[in-house]
Amino acid sequence: NKVSADVSEILSYRKQHLGKSLSVSYKEPLHIVRGDGPYLIDAAGQKYLDTVNNVAHVGHEHPAVVKAGTQQMALLNTNTRYLHGQITEFAQELLATFPPELSVVHFVNSGSEANELALRMAYTVTGQKDIIASEIGYHGNTNGCIGISSYKFDGKGGAGAPEHTHIVPLVDAFRGKYRGDDTTTKYAQHVQHQLNHIQEQGRNVAAFIYESIISCGGQIELPEGYLEQAYAMVRKAGGLCISDEVQVGCGRVGKAFWGFQLHNVIPDIVTIGKPLGNGHPLAAVVCTQKVAEGFANGMEYFNTFGGNPVSCAIGTAVLRTVKEEGLQQQAQAVGDYLKEGLKTLQADFPIIGDIRGQGLFLGFELNGPDLAPLAPQASYLANRMKTFGILMSTDGLDHNVLKIKPPLVFNQDHADELLLRLRTVCSEDFMQHQH
Ligand code: PMP
Repeated sequence: NKVSADVSEILSYRKQHLGKSLSVSYKEPLHIVRGDGPYLIDAAGQKYLDTVNNVAHVGHEHPAVVKAGTQQMALLNTNTRYLHGQITEFAQELLATFPPELSVVHFVNSGSEANELALRMAYTVTGQKDIIASEIGYHGNTNGCIGISSYKFDGKGGAGAPEHTHIVPLVDAFRGKYRGDDTTTKYAQHVQHQLNHIQEQGRNVAAFIYESIISCGGQIELPEGYLEQAYAMVRKAGGLCISDEVQVGCGRVGKAFWGFQLHNVIPDIVTIGKPLGNGHPLAAVVCTQKVAEGFANGMEYFNTFGGNPVSCAIGTAVLRTVKEEGLQQQAQAVGDYLKEGLKTLQADFPIIGDIRGQGLFLGFELNGPDLAPLAPQASYLANRMKTFGILMSTDGLDHNVLKIKPPLVFNQDHADELLLRLRTVCSEDFMQHQH
């Protein structure tokens, strides 16, 4: 039929003519043609509940966002060298979500660009080049970002850490280097070790970059007080602290608008991406006046697309929608409800080894005896859930973590549907006989 003919045609063209390292989700790939709130709809009209997409933050094709973008697109799109009210309006809307210390914004077009700029700021302001980052951290696709992303350089095709990158262990209290309730200082000591190691070579630290919940590493929550200790150590050595909020920002974690606010710290630089444009390429770097002044050393920072009026109109609409629809509060309420439901499921299915996360940034991992990671079961689960019309993704060092980070319009009914189907799939033979 026409629909499957299209799928094989698109697939074979992609294989031949699109970049050879592009990947595609699912054993039987999806041909998605429309989005609607928390749903994606394929070419055959099948609707899927999307628990994966933290980019479509306020819901796929949210009418207010679509309207803001199309209206501005019909009127004007230029760069930042002309004055335009849209950019200042967006800046005000964005900065209002931050503590007063963070009061300067640079607009860019992707999370990678944001982190690339944050690195450049740190190099310029400190005059140093060394960066401390997390094991299995991912910060973007540019050369600079790949160079600080252990998720990439320690993985397939990678060549290990570059000279100026210093990795600290993943702060996984469930299955990491240190486990249990009292891991904060143990993990933070590794930041100090890396600082010492950098200084022993006659150099110093430029920045420490960290997520508030480690995403690609498998939705790992930081031990309480870890960031406070790490920031203090890094600042004492003269380095800057960068919070990568590309995945977790903009209200997703529920209790706070920004992930770093869960940890009682104020970064020097915050990078924002995915959710800010609801799918439109829009990202930002927010920093202190001091960092912004240090960075403005005479060399212009010019970005052709960053801060254009269409992107700014879209970003403003996204932030207003989060506020007007109470989506941060919804993330917290639905996230808590879902977490409880997952715990009930865990009581019946011990294959669910750990449940973690905040708001609608959750994850659970599958384990066998002795916490052995069960990647085949995680993959089976994601693929089986698809047949029930629910999209899920897997990640983590051992690919045994199911991530839940849906558009924030995901509500309690959607959570019930997810839990019901998880129960069905967890009952299946393949999931039951993992030993
Ligand atoms: N930081 C984090 C934490 C990310 O997850 C990503 C993307 N997965 C990036 C940065 C890079 O963002 P982008 O893909 O928009 O360049």
